[in-house]
Amino acid sequence: MNTMMSGDVKGAPPVLALDIGGTWTRAAAVSTAGRILSSARERTQSDGNSADFVGQCVRLLTAIREDGFAESAALGVSATGPLDAATGTLYHPPNTGAALADLPLAALLGSALGLPVVVDKDTNAAVIAEQRYGAARGAKDIVYLTVSTGVGASVMMNGLLMRGVDGTAGEFGHVVIEPGGPHCGCGRRGCLEAVASGQAIAAAGRRAAAHDPTSILACTARVQSPGLLEGAHVAAAAAAGDDAAASIMTRARDAVVSACVDLVNVFNPETLVLAGSVVRGNPQWVELASQTVKAEALSPANLRARIRPAELGDDGGLLGAALLVT
Ligand SMILES: [Zn+2]
Repeated sequence: MNTMMSGDVKGAPPVLALDIGGTWTRAAAVSTAGRILSSARERTQSDGNSADFVGQCVRLLTAIREDGFAESAALGVSATGPLDAATGTLYHPPNTGAALADLPLAALLGSALGLPVVVDKDTNAAVIAEQRYGAARGAKDIVYLTVSTGVGASVMMNGLLMRGVDGTAGEFGHVVIEPGGPHCGCGRRGCLEAVASGQAIAAAGRRAAAHDPTSILACTARVQSPGLLEGAHVAAAAAAGDDAAASIMTRARDAVVSACVDLVNVFNPETLVLAGSVVRGNPQWVELASQTVKAEALSPANLRARIRPAELGDDGGLLGAALLVT
């Protein structure tokens, strides 16, 4: 498993990478050329106490080390934000349980494993990975927008991540796109996340299913059992001709497309990467965003910006985590 591969730095051992998501925590050994050589994952234990959660991370990483990667000299961690990358401490992530609140993760993992540890938020790790290996190769001015369970973003200008004074910059999911619109988890109404995220699409789908018990959406909801209707089910119902589902998806799509025009106007990126499960499930949104940016963003930023789907998928977090220490 330790065979040198093309692009690997001669003599440099693979590094360890950890990707902590709301649902899954993945650990891996990653070569200096960005190849995942060994990996393991478990459901993130964020509802218990923090010692259990740190223990889970150590267990996953120890399994990778014992799989032939004991010589790895550093660990990079991609974690759901917000967090303080300077100290490797998580703030209180809204989409995860209490076990992660105010956790000094870099210090705890560093002392448990005896390794230097760098922690950064998931969207920062992802934009670094897309720049090196994916949709934004060669670009220095990049906006990364992910539409998944929530909506997140990262901005790289002239090769440097924009972090803000507390490290929390990039929360573009909480830009209000429909004043007075649906309630958002942040306390405001009409945020991009409250209209376009997978969670928001699912919630709107459940309301529509309750409103019209004879609809395709309501049938799907009954098959899935109450509460388990997901964004992908709403998209499928829309494709099958359900009018309410179609209007939910159109509303989400238009919000994302409009956000892309806003981001191009504000940041004048060379590449805008669209990522996340909602975009993966609706790839036609990327082409529409590209056409709308050309037609509606300010000149000359409108013609400069390339709108691209993310290329690294679920591996982006691990590859970006490894780049933090490569
Ligand atoms: Zn919000």
